[in-house]
This record gives sequence, structure tokens and C-alpha cells, in this order.
Amino acid sequence: MKPTTLLARTLFCLFVFWSTANISIAQQHTPVARNRTISAIVRDIDARNIEQSIRKLVSFGTRNTLSEQNDPKRGIGAARDWLYAEFLKAAESSGGRMTVEKQSYEQGKAQRVPQPTIITNVVATLKGTQPESSDRIYVVSGHYDSMCNSTTDAKCDAPGANDDASGTAAVLEMARVMAKHQFEATIVFMAVAGEEQSLLGSTHFAEQAKQKNWNIDAMFTNDIIGNTLGGNGVRDRGMVRVFSEGVPTNETPAEANTRRSVGGENDSPSRQLARFIKEIGDRYVSQIKVLMVYRRDRYGRGGDHIPFLERGYPAVRFTELHEDFRHQHQNVRVENGVQFGDLPEFVDFAYVANVARVNAASLAMLVLAPARPKGVTILSTRLSHDTDLRWEANKEADLAGYEIVWRDTTAAVWTNSRTVGKVTTFTMKGMSKDNYFFGVRAIDKDGNRSPVTYPRPQTRQQPADRTTSTTTSSAP
Ligand SMILES: [Zn+2]
Repeated sequence: MKPTTLLARTLFCLFVFWSTANISIAQQHTPVARNRTISAIVRDIDARNIEQSIRKLVSFGTRNTLSEQNDPKRGIGAARDWLYAEFLKAAESSGGRMTVEKQSYEQGKAQRVPQPTIITNVVATLKGTQPESSDRIYVVSGHYDSMCNSTTDAKCDAPGANDDASGTAAVLEMARVMAKHQFEATIVFMAVAGEEQSLLGSTHFAEQAKQKNWNIDAMFTNDIIGNTLGGNGVRDRGMVRVFSEGVPTNETPAEANTRRSVGGENDSPSRQLARFIKEIGDRYVSQIKVLMVYRRDRYGRGGDHIPFLERGYPAVRFTELHEDFRHQHQNVRVENGVQFGDLPEFVDFAYVANVARVNAASLAMLVLAPARPKGVTILSTRLSHDTDLRWEANKEADLAGYEIVWRDTTAAVWTNSRTVGKVTTFTMKGMSKDNYFFGVRAIDKDGNRSPVTYPRPQTRQQPADRTTSTTTSSAP
């Protein structure tokens, strides 16, 4: 063989190897283009607006839930009225799609409520535009109440710049930026009260939602999202924690039995939501990375997402990476040369803006993308080296189809995906349900992807849906 032939053959073999390798990579990682609306939203979020809002909220002296409700300058009532007016201003650019209300109720005496007290949530709802999607609701919240050392001290200064003017200001800025855009599903931007009194405002909202049978598909709480210099001396401006539960708070004994039988303690709807936020946040917001924490909240502590979890709504909590406890729930004072108190000088406004961007990008994708697939099952009775998946058809007019995702059982995030078209069953040939975790997500014609639905086991073959086709394909 002439050396030139050998060289040609080698090059040809290399080419074949290279192109085969690329095909298999393409099958596993479908390239995703950025959505322009989401990029514009991320760009429009402005740290200067967030700083102004935080300083304004601090200017009310205290926002303790038990503080003055009718003084125009000091107390929680002044903060409530200012927030209401600001959300109304945000709504002006929505063309009538955003409505703002004060949701009030009288809280009776409780452990941290010495006398009956009116609790008011300020709620701005941006209605979705698509009839098949607008009843799907996404809630993003911060709590505007604050406290000093004592939950029940209504008189002390409680600036609450970080806990939680930071989260409240982020939500207000998201409302301002997102009200201009049209989305298929509905977003509720909310500032709640009574958090420090045991999550009272968020519990009231979640309970109302449950009683009215609202279809809340996800909830984010933003609480303590502005400090970048931890009490441990570590400065970190490049990460935000997203807390999500593994086993659902409201799991029934029957569901627990199923989970013990097939796995899934790392695959609750809230965990899928956290993975979704990590994927979208890391794609659209380069300044900050999402650190998923596999816990409902910080160790032994809680937040406004918990009442939602208790009622079966997927929910997560956003919090800065390193807290500084000298600036939370402290009377404002100097002790041995150390400044205590939750003051604006300890808030990193640019960082709050970045956390707001991760929220906004994730929310925007949730309301642009189709709903996550429902009724997703794995046929569990068939002893097979293949995995049979089945789900119900989505209703969106712009639906393009579905994607199967999978990962090794020890992987933290979905590592592989395959587009399978507009079908409602699919068999992953040569891939055993014993050795991988699988999920299904929906895609629209613009490439927007829903969060992943984790399948439950289906014990009997149900009659095939005659309106959809069955497709199979072999795994790489
Ligand atoms: Zn808080």
C-alpha cells in the first residue's frame, strides 16, 4: 500500500469516527438556542431600582407585622401602601393584563401575635395570554415585614434591608420588567407579611389557592438574597443557593410505599424545579451560578415556600451563599466596635439584581414553555432491558413534542436528552429502568422546554391512545 493511500485511509477512518462521535453527542445533548425575550428581561433588571426600593423600605423605620398600620411614614402600613402604589405603576405597562390587590385577613391571637392583627399581602397578577395555559400559575414572593431581636417588638427600629427588603425589591423589579411582556401562563408577584410571625401571609395565600383549586405549578420565595460577605469572612458574589426538598412534605403513605419500591427520593417536583432553575439560570445569567442545596430550607429553619409545599405545590427558596447573623434579627447597635443590625450598607445591590435575574429568567421560561407533561409513567410489570414510558398529550397549540431525559442514579442533574417528537409513548431500547432515572419534558415550536416530570410506576398496560402514535428508538 502506498503511503498516500494509507494516509487517505487513516484520514477517512478518523473522519468516520469523528462524525459518528458527533452524531451520538448530538443525540444526547440537543443544542438549545437562547430565547430573546428572556435575554431582554435579564438585561432590563436594574440594580439601581433594587437599591432605591430597599432604601425606601428601610426608611419606614420598622416593618414589624405588629407595627403601626395607619401612619403614612413609619410602620408596616406605610410599607404596604408604598408597595401597592409601586406594583400599580408596574402594571401600567401591561396593557391591562396586570392587576394589583391587597389581600387582607384578620389573624387571631397566636404565639407571636399578642392581639388580633390585620395581615396584608400585596399581590400583582400578570395574566397569561393563552387560554390553554393562563390558568397555570407561577408565584414569586418576598416578605416585606421585618423584625429586630424580638418578633413582637413593634417599636424598635427593624430596617430589614436584607431580611427581606432584598427579596421584596427583587420581586418588585421583576414585576416592573416583566409586565411589558406577554406570556402564555400567569405570574403572581407577591410581597407577603407575617413571615416572622410563622409564615402567616404566605400560609393565607397558599390556603386560599388550595380552596379555590388554583393550578399553582411552582412557587419561588426570595428571602435574604443580598449579603455577599458572610459572617465567616468569606466573600462570594458568584453563587446563590436554591433550596429544594427531596421527599415531598405532603407525601402520603401510599406514595411513600411507591417511592421505597422504585426510588425517587431525589426526584420530587420541587427538586425538578431546582434543576430547571439551575439549567436556565446558568444559561442566561453568566454573573452568578445556582448552587442547588438538597434540603427544604437551611438546617432546622423555614420560609414562605413551606406553606406551599404543605399543600402540594412545588416550591423552592433562594438565599445568598453565606449569611451574616450579625445583620439578621438584631437590634441596631454597635457592640465592641461591631455594627449589628440589618442595614442597607451590608446589602450588595448588584448581587440582588443577579439573583432577581435568575428568578426572572426561570419564571419567563416557565410561562413561555408548555406545561410539564402529566400522567408520566414507566411500565413496571415488564421484566425487560428496555424502558417503556407513557404520558398524556399536552394541549398547547404551539407544542412541538417531547424530550426524554435521563441520568445515572448517582448524578445530580439530568445529563442526557433525546427529542422524540409528538408522541405519548416511547421505549428506550437497551436502557434498563433499574440502572437509570428517566424523565419527560415538553417542548414548544420555539424550543422552550418545560420542567421535567418524573414518572410513577404503571403496573398494568393501559389501552393505547388511538390519537397518538408509538415510536421506538435504540439508545446510543
Ligand atoms: Zn426572612
